[in-house]
Amino acid sequence: MNPPLIYLNGLFWPLNKAKISVLDRGFTYGDGLFETLRAYSSKVFRLEEHLDRLLMSSHMIFLDLPMTRNEIRSAIYATININKLMDSIIRVTVTRGEQPPGMSINYDLSPTIVIHARPLIPVPSTVYKTGVAITLFKNSATKITGLYNQIKSCNYLSHIILRERSLKQGSFEGVMLDHRNNITEGTSSNIFIIKSNELKTPEINEFVLSGITRQVVLEIAVANKISFKEEIINEKDIYNADEIFITNTGIEILPVCTVNGQTIGDGKPGIMTKYLHKMFLKSFEES
Ligand code: PLP
Repeated sequence: MNPPLIYLNGLFWPLNKAKISVLDRGFTYGDGLFETLRAYSSKVFRLEEHLDRLLMSSHMIFLDLPMTRNEIRSAIYATININKLMDSIIRVTVTRGEQPPGMSINYDLSPTIVIHARPLIPVPSTVYKTGVAITLFKNSATKITGLYNQIKSCNYLSHIILRERSLKQGSFEGVMLDHRNNITEGTSSNIFIIKSNELKTPEINEFVLSGITRQVVLEIAVANKISFKEEIINEKDIYNADEIFITNTGIEILPVCTVNGQTIGDGKPGIMTKYLHKMFLKSFEES
């Protein structure tokens, strides 16, 4: 089988030939951003929202993208099409590029842009029927000092470590609490609870990424007259919830039935979670 073709700074390269410099700032300092997108039948879901987040984040870190929004959009589709992909995951990585050693930024040097599209390997469908376990980690929410909001930066080390600790405990995801003991988000997901038919999710702040899937869930709630609140959620709210689910581009809406070994609700994916997932799938089938 031919290796996948990777978009790298305007050209396509086979995966084994796509190389970046050892002085690339993404490598030396994690000085970059990424987006993970999903295509259903070759059509990228919520592409404009992902581009909004990428462009907003690059502005916030003083990274001047050498491509326009239209050019990035076209490059994403070109990468999907050249690799003849249908249902796929697309990762766009932008770094500050090759720079002289040291932390100063030379604005005359070009960023690195990589687009890697691969076939989607979905979460096994049984997981949506059984729900998953999550682990809560106290005082572990991360923020990037110097920025008010979260961005999807290439600094994922703490998320990687927490995710690994969750997996070692038999959990699917680790969810981080901040220094005030408020629930923030998962290492690669947002979290929702349902209590007495009301949907709740932590509000966006420096610890909570404005997930695209999270936004879609809130839109579905509005469209279907489901009452929702973006507000502080603490550990007690989690254990008292009727239903819990986590969201991201890859997993969509995934029920959570166990938290730190404790059963949530009746231990099965709840009605509202299943309904929201159904509506979610319907929303892109219709678009
Ligand atoms: N929060 C974090 C830390 C993430 O890494 C992600 C996705 O990777 C999300 C939330 C969910 O974002 P989205 O729904 O845009 O995939």
